[in-house]
Amino acid sequence: MPKNGLWLILSFLVIGLLLTGCLELRAQAQTEPINVIVTIPPQAFLVESIGGKRTKVTSMIPEDGSPHTSSLTPEKLKKIRGADIYFRVGTPLPFEENNLEVFREENPELIVVNTSRGAELKALDQHYGKTKVDRADDEKKSIDNHVWLSVSSLEIMAENVFDALSSLDPSSKEYFRKNLDELLKKISVTRDKLNGILGAFVGRNFLVYHPAWGYFGDEFKLHQVAVQEKRDKPGARRVREIANFAKEHGLHKIITSSQFSPTTAKMVANTFGGSVAKINPLERDILKELVKLAREIAEGYRES
Ligand SMILES: [Zn+2]
Repeated sequence: MPKNGLWLILSFLVIGLLLTGCLELRAQAQTEPINVIVTIPPQAFLVESIGGKRTKVTSMIPEDGSPHTSSLTPEKLKKIRGADIYFRVGTPLPFEENNLEVFREENPELIVVNTSRGAELKALDQHYGKTKVDRADDEKKSIDNHVWLSVSSLEIMAENVFDALSSLDPSSKEYFRKNLDELLKKISVTRDKLNGILGAFVGRNFLVYHPAWGYFGDEFKLHQVAVQEKRDKPGARRVREIANFAKEHGLHKIITSSQFSPTTAKMVANTFGGSVAKINPLERDILKELVKLAREIAEGYRES
């Protein structure tokens, strides 16, 4: 074989190897997951459902944490440094609002999305059936931030997650779309389930310790009555008031959130012969948790 021919073959080999290398690199870039931060675990559920294998999700607040007291830690800052997108919810939490500048310094390219954009935010006293018995409503002007605890909000949030992920990675849009459709189907099945459980109780009251379920109540025309007074433990007068209210309205259960100690709720429930049911508003699998909540509320109307 002439010398030139050998060189030619060698050159092709080298070029071929380089090309394969390039393609591999590109494939790697495409499969590199999008680093997503969410404020609370139910958002992680939405993002993972839609983003699937294209996303890697971290929640700033864990399932057993509390949005009311959460603060910024070095570990959280580290996550923010490596993130592509940050999904917050409702109005920014204090640790988010106070540190937005720090976020920007750590990661100038970070995209911040309001997951609940388009869902109507209400004050506590704007929820279904509010009356004088609602002591927690003293904070009239403060917005009730538990907006993710409603089926229609979750639908809006899912759409917003889809939009944001699609603009970040347009090549995966069809994949995201397919996942969104499946998620919306799941949410719709949940709505039917909830209507089936609660449909017979329209217009009734339900007792909760911390007022997290106003948006949920609105959806099924149920009036949330909170035992807590101004985010604090109820006083003796409030306990008597709740006991009388429970007897008058045939209520046998208090819904408590996992973030609050159930001791006070149990004590209050004892005054009217009722019980407590623990539901976690930060549960990752929030659809399942809402069904659990509906069952507990329905059970609370039955004589024990
Ligand atoms: Zn809360």
